[in-house]
Amino acid sequence: MSMETENVVARLKSSGLFRTKGLIGGKWIDAYDGKTIEVYNPANGEVIASVACMGERETKDSIASAYTAFSHWSKLTAAERSTRLRKWYNLLIEHKEELGQLITLEQGKPLKEAIMEVVSGAGHVEFFAEEAKRVYGDILPSPQPDRRLFVLKQPVGVVGAITPWNFPFAMITRKVAPALACGCTVVIKPSELTPLTALAAAELALQSGIPPGVLNVVMGDAPKIGNALLESPQVRKITFTGSTAVGKKLMVGAAETVKKVSLELGGNAPFVIFDDADLEAALKASLATKFFNTGQTCICANRLLVQEGIYDKFINAFSNAVKSLKVGNGFSEGVAQGPLINEAAVQKVESLVQDATSKGAKVILGGKRHNLGFTFYEPTIISDVKNEMLIARQEIFGPVTPIIRFKTEEEAIQIANDTESGLAAYLFTNNIQRSWRVCEALEYGIVGVNEGVFASPGAPFGGFKQSGLGRESSKYGLDEYLEIKCVCMGNMG
Ligand code: NAP
Repeated sequence: MSMETENVVARLKSSGLFRTKGLIGGKWIDAYDGKTIEVYNPANGEVIASVACMGERETKDSIASAYTAFSHWSKLTAAERSTRLRKWYNLLIEHKEELGQLITLEQGKPLKEAIMEVVSGAGHVEFFAEEAKRVYGDILPSPQPDRRLFVLKQPVGVVGAITPWNFPFAMITRKVAPALACGCTVVIKPSELTPLTALAAAELALQSGIPPGVLNVVMGDAPKIGNALLESPQVRKITFTGSTAVGKKLMVGAAETVKKVSLELGGNAPFVIFDDADLEAALKASLATKFFNTGQTCICANRLLVQEGIYDKFINAFSNAVKSLKVGNGFSEGVAQGPLINEAAVQKVESLVQDATSKGAKVILGGKRHNLGFTFYEPTIISDVKNEMLIARQEIFGPVTPIIRFKTEEEAIQIANDTESGLAAYLFTNNIQRSWRVCEALEYGIVGVNEGVFASPGAPFGGFKQSGLGRESSKYGLDEYLEIKCVCMGNMG
C-alpha cells in the first residue's frame, strides 16, 4: 500500500469508519463461508481492503433482522425517527472529510467532489428527518351520511436497496433516508467496487442510535443477493440505482411477489445550445455537466447539440476550456478529472470513440488513454457526430464529449428525444418562448433551462421512458416507501 493510502486508512481506522464486514442485525459479520473480495483504488490499482463476499444465506438473515426490526421502528413516533435521522446527519457532516477520502480512495473522484457528495448526500438525511413529520393522511367527503372515509399512509415494510459505484454515498442516503423516515427498514447492497463508503455510513447510523436491524448491509455476489431479495415475500419494496439492463431484470424478478419497485436507471442527456444562447454561460455549464465525476454520472451531458450559427465558435472555446482540465489522482491538488472506475469502463469508451471515428466523426481533442496509465482517459471532444452513432445512443460514462450540429429548433427536439432514455436534458437559449416550447417538448424527467447539472434533496429526481420508474428526493420521494390504506367507518349516523 502507498503511504497516501496507508495514511487515509489509518485515519479511518482510528475513527472506527474502516469496516470490511457486512452488517446484519447490528453486528459486523464475515461471509459465512469466509470468502472475501478485494476493493481496488482505480487511480493506481492497489488493493485497499478485502471485504466479506456474501450471498444468499447472509441476505436471508439480513431480511429476517430487518423484518424483526420493522415491528419496532415502524411504531416509533415520526418525531422519534426524525431525531435519530438528524443525529445521523450530524455525524455524517462531522465526518465528511474522512468519508470524502474513502470515496476518493475506492471510487477515484477528486477529493473536493467527494466531499461535495457527502454534503449533498447527507442533505437527504437532513431533509427526510424533517419530512418524517409530514407524512399526512386525508379525510375524504363521505358518499353516505352514516359513513366516514379516511386515507392512512403506512410504511411499505422491508426495503431492498441496490446501489451503484459512481456515487457510493449519495445513492445510499437518497434511498435509506426516506425509507427510514417512513418507518421502513432496509437491506442495502452496495456495489462490490465501492462497499467501504456504504459500510462507513452504516457505522455512523449505528452510532447515531438507529436500532440494530433497521439498516443492514450485505455485499458480494450480486445476482445471489439480488435473487434472495426478490424471492423473499418479506421484502415489500426494491429500490435500485444502476444500469437499465440490471433494472429490467429486477423489475421482472419483483413481479413474482408483486413488490413495489423504484428504478433510477441510465441516461443519455442531450445538452442543447441554440444560436441565441449566452455562450459564456453555456460553456461553463456544459463543461461542468459533461466532466462532473469524469463523465461517470447518469445526468452527465452525453451529447452536445450545437446550432450551426455558433457551432465552430463554440467548439473552439470548449476545446480551450477542456484543455485546462487537470487529470490525476483525486487526492492531488487541483485535479478535475480522476480515473475511470475500471478497465472495462476504459474499453467501453475506447470502442465508442473508435466506432464514431470509423463512421466519419473527428477527434478535436484527446481520443486516447492518458499517459498516466491505469484507467485514466484523456478529456476528449469529438465533432461531426450523428445521432445514429453508438456514441450518441449509449451512455458513454467517460470524459468524452460528442458534438452534433443542428439547424432548427424542431430538429434539435427530434434529435434530443430520439433515444430510449429520458433522465436529464439541458437547453440554453435567451428566447423565453423557445425555452418553454423546448422544455415542454423534451421527454425527460429533469430539465435544466440555462442551467447545467443540478440535484437537490427537495427536487424530484427520476426519468421518463427506460430511465426508470418513480422519483427520489423531495416530497414525492416519500410516497415510494408508503402504502395507502383507505378506511371506511360505518354506522356513524
Ligand atoms: P450496474 O452494473 O447495474 O450495478 C448497479 C448495482 O446493481 C450494483 O450494486 C451491482 O452489484 C448490482 N447488480 C448487478 N447485477 C445484479 C443482479 N443480477 N441482481 C442484483 N443486483 C445486481 O450499474 P453500475 O455500473 O454500478 O452503475 C452505473 C449505472 O447506474 C449507469 O447506467 C448510470 O446511469 C446509473 N445511475 C443512475 C442514476 C439515476 O439516478 N438514474 C444514478 C447513478 C447511476 P455489483 O457492482 O456488486 O456487481
